Amino acid sequence: MATVGGMASTNAHGMRAVKYGPTSAWVLGLEVVLPDGQIIETGSVGSRAKQSSAGLELTRLIVGAEGTLGVITRLRLKLMPIPIARAIVVGLFDALEQAGQSVQAVFAAGVGPSAIEILDERCVQAINLYRPAIALPRVEALLLFEVDGNPPGVRWDAERICEVIGPFARRAEWSDETARISALWEARSLVGAAVGMLRPGSNRAYCGEDICVPVARMPETLRAVQEISARHRIPIATYGHIGGGGLHPGHLIDGRDADEIQRVLRVADEIHLLALRMGGTTTGEHGVGAARAPYMAQEHGPALDVMRRLKRALDPNGIMNPGVIFDTPALPFEMPLNAPVGEPAVAPIDPG
Ligand SMILES: Cc1cc2nc3c(=O)[nH]c(=O)nc-3n(C[C@H](O)[C@H](O)[C@H](O)COP(=O)(O)OP(=O)(O)OC[C@H]3O[C@@H](n4cnc5c(N)ncnc54)[C@H](O)[C@@H]3O)c2cc1C
Repeated sequence: MATVGGMASTNAHGMRAVKYGPTSAWVLGLEVVLPDGQIIETGSVGSRAKQSSAGLELTRLIVGAEGTLGVITRLRLKLMPIPIARAIVVGLFDALEQAGQSVQAVFAAGVGPSAIEILDERCVQAINLYRPAIALPRVEALLLFEVDGNPPGVRWDAERICEVIGPFARRAEWSDETARISALWEARSLVGAAVGMLRPGSNRAYCGEDICVPVARMPETLRAVQEISARHRIPIATYGHIGGGGLHPGHLIDGRDADEIQRVLRVADEIHLLALRMGGTTTGEHGVGAARAPYMAQEHGPALDVMRRLKRALDPNGIMNPGVIFDTPALPFEMPLNAPVGEPAVAPIDPG
């Protein structure tokens, strides 16, 4: 379960952030308890106006701060009606590069999908093992585009996407039938749990699992992740929100094997550095926490020092969520492995 305070504090994103933006786009104002016990209201929690140009945007500062600046106790959120029509386009590609070109071509054509998701070959294989009835064709990349809005607009957008991606795809087709849309989204939502089928008894290791890179560099990044996977002998199935550049590599390890744990930590390190080399970020939506804190200096340069000064100004005693974002701990594979090595886990739900 995710709380609204947690979603705001990590500035959480979902599949539809490509059109609707992250949580920060929906937070109008906050009530926050500061480290010294003072309670403040930001944005339109105090004023009730829907917009304001008055002073610094403290709402934006605190959203995404992972609880390091204060505790959010109340939020005012923007709401909108659910779009009345939806359609889905499925594109099948023999090469990752063609999938990347398709996404860029769709944006260049001026169509604004509400979601664009990618599944790599291993994910497609995993879904077929997990739910054979879905029977996805064997391809190197599968793209799902969702469009929403009014019925004629949705049909026009879906047809236009098929037209634009047609030259790159083995096959492209669209549907506005509820059953077809549900079946394809079900396939996508199963993937987090299904990847475990590729290696029975394995654990999914959540490290290096949330990078985000420029859309144009997605195919190159996916190829590089495959190369890292092969070199460290750790199977990785990758899916993500390609429309915004977000990728979730799913590393499958035997959680009882200390050597595999060390290797997957190196895999995570290489994936984080890869994201930075590509001009991206080590975390597209899950947040920094302690795991990605070692990369913040490289990711932000001198801006990290400004963040640290803000943190010290508001929380001079460092009592709010210490050890995350601003500290620079050793990388996990440089630390001794003291924790007991556990049994393989069963993941019944898709973690996103
Ligand atoms: C397997 C997995 C999958 C995930 N998938 C996604 C995803 O698809 N998209 C996505 O955006 N994120 C994802 N996340 C990241 C994260 O779980 C979400 O961002 C979620 O919204 C966090 O909410 P929570 O209530 O669980 O917060 P917690 O995990 O409890 O807390 C998250 C952070 O926010 C702080 N915090 C929590 N509540 C408050 C508050 N009221 N005031 C101040 N600080 C607070 C905590 O100190 C902590 O630093 C995933 C995480 C995991 C482990």
